Amino acid sequence: MKDTYWEGETETMDRRALQALQLHRLNETIASARNSDFYRGKLPVRVERLEEIETLPFTTKQDLRDSFPAGMVAVPKEDLVRLHSSSGTTGRATVVYHTKRDIDVWADLCARSMYMTGMRNTDVFQNMMGYGLFTGGLGLHYGAERLGALTIPASSGNSKRQIRLMCDFHTTAFHITPSYALHLYGVFCEEGVDPKRDLPLRIALLGAEPYSEGTRRKIEKLYGIDAFNSYGLSEMSGPGVAFECTYKEGMHVWEDAFLLEVIDPKTGTPLTDGDEGELVFTTLRREGMPLIRYRTGDIASVNRKGCPCGRTHRRISRIKGRSDDMLIIKGVNIYPMQIEKILMDIPEVGNNYLIEIDTVDYLDTLVVKIEVGQKTFHGTISELEGLKRRITDLLRTEILIHPKVVLVEHGSLPPSEGKAVRVIDRRGEK
Ligand code: AMP
Ligand code: ZN
Repeated sequence: MKDTYWEGETETMDRRALQALQLHRLNETIASARNSDFYRGKLPVRVERLEEIETLPFTTKQDLRDSFPAGMVAVPKEDLVRLHSSSGTTGRATVVYHTKRDIDVWADLCARSMYMTGMRNTDVFQNMMGYGLFTGGLGLHYGAERLGALTIPASSGNSKRQIRLMCDFHTTAFHITPSYALHLYGVFCEEGVDPKRDLPLRIALLGAEPYSEGTRRKIEKLYGIDAFNSYGLSEMSGPGVAFECTYKEGMHVWEDAFLLEVIDPKTGTPLTDGDEGELVFTTLRREGMPLIRYRTGDIASVNRKGCPCGRTHRRISRIKGRSDDMLIIKGVNIYPMQIEKILMDIPEVGNNYLIEIDTVDYLDTLVVKIEVGQKTFHGTISELEGLKRRITDLLRTEILIHPKVVLVEHGSLPPSEGKAVRVIDRRGEK
């Protein structure tokens, strides 16, 4: 069993036993959440059946922001050993705190996920996700070490160095955003290295942003590897929430650690398996900051059918998108309101602007077209350049990526008649 599974007993647990375990852990979670400022007085002492979860209140991203910096922490401060903060938000960041055991459980879930894809301790694992507050770096890092793989904490960017590391240390598995994987291939070509021919690569873990089945196939072909979908979110610790097995027909959600529900995003009504809706998770094994019925905004459907791999944990489909207007550009979460908030504080900026997102050479691009008043528009070139630079810097500080700012004459952008269309996303059109 150890050869096929990382934690065989848990991964193949009979559904009834799994549900009993969930109920036990749900009550532990409730008891602990009741110690936090946020959940105090909002939860029953315990529930008798799993279905009673539907009587508990939802937790939203806004709740997380409102309880900034530590309103949801359920343990004494001395028990916390790490925090992670979400990559992009309107206003306040969302913060998740972990105890030593939380980090341990998370590492186990990541190791379990990676093992499921076929990764072993003989692999050389290059982690090309950003290290730091973002969970993609440290999350799988600890998992890979737990698995016993030789782990290279390369972090994201610096493509030539990534390729050099791969060549020098004979990388066999890597973790990367799908958009970066496509871009990196272009750099491989420039460098005269053929990843398929020159490297022992065999597995890629792709996640952090939505992508199509076609993109997966393309990456598999270019690199000569097997690519697996990895889903997670910082509110549920990060990667290691759901992962594909070698059958690649949906991602197994680790239901011993997360209680999964799917709801109608508009009404909040629970849906049945197979229906597409918003994923809602309750943490079942987190001490530092338990979350009850967290609304992810991510849209997917659940597949209850048994998987040939023998794991009994239900699978979710590819994430279709988000129920809100959050954009993911180069793997970073951005809300259009963050951009608007910055622009509207700059006196020279007019009333209309447009956000255009596209893919150029496999990489996301962000163009922000901004109308400025006549007087500004007809100012000197150096004045205009100065303004452009100032706006670019302010935006970059807020959204963490570099936008191309285009200043246009007042009245040249499509006027809004009713609801304004502020975002044009052309990435799906190619
Ligand atoms: P963050 O909390 O910053 O790590 O962002 C988490 C969000 O990234 C999720 O809620 C999803 O919207 C998105 N995401 C993560 N993994 C995937 C994936 N495999 N497919 C599609 N979207 C994903
Ligand atoms: Zn499976």
